[in-house]
Amino acid sequence: MHEMGIALQVIDIATAAIPPEMRGCRVERVNLRIGKLSAVVVDSLNFCLEIATRDTPLAEAVFSIEEIPVVAQCRECGHEWQVARAVFKCPECGSGNLEMISGRELDVVSIDIEEQFGSQAQNQ
Ligand SMILES: [Zn+2]
Repeated sequence: MHEMGIALQVIDIATAAIPPEMRGCRVERVNLRIGKLSAVVVDSLNFCLEIATRDTPLAEAVFSIEEIPVVAQCRECGHEWQVARAVFKCPECGSGNLEMISGRELDVVSIDIEEQFGSQAQNQ
């Protein structure tokens, strides 16, 4: 399943983002940004994350997923627009010579880690 691969990737990135001094803490929230071009079904991804995070520091985490629209730019006339349908043609000049500016993202934007050591771990 496509989403399972992405879930594992997200877990890798988010786990690597835990600062060494906070290893062993629970991650409470992971903020993700996913481009619509990556064709992720958010419900499936959530399901895979739930399974794949078992026995990891992310087991209790809430995954907040923001979907990023697909933005294309025409290489001929420079026109830039949000792609709503799978027709990849510039609406201005009809060219098929396009560049995908956004929509392929898979970003772990930030993670929130449970405070286990009072306030000392903050703002360092
Ligand atoms: Zn164009």
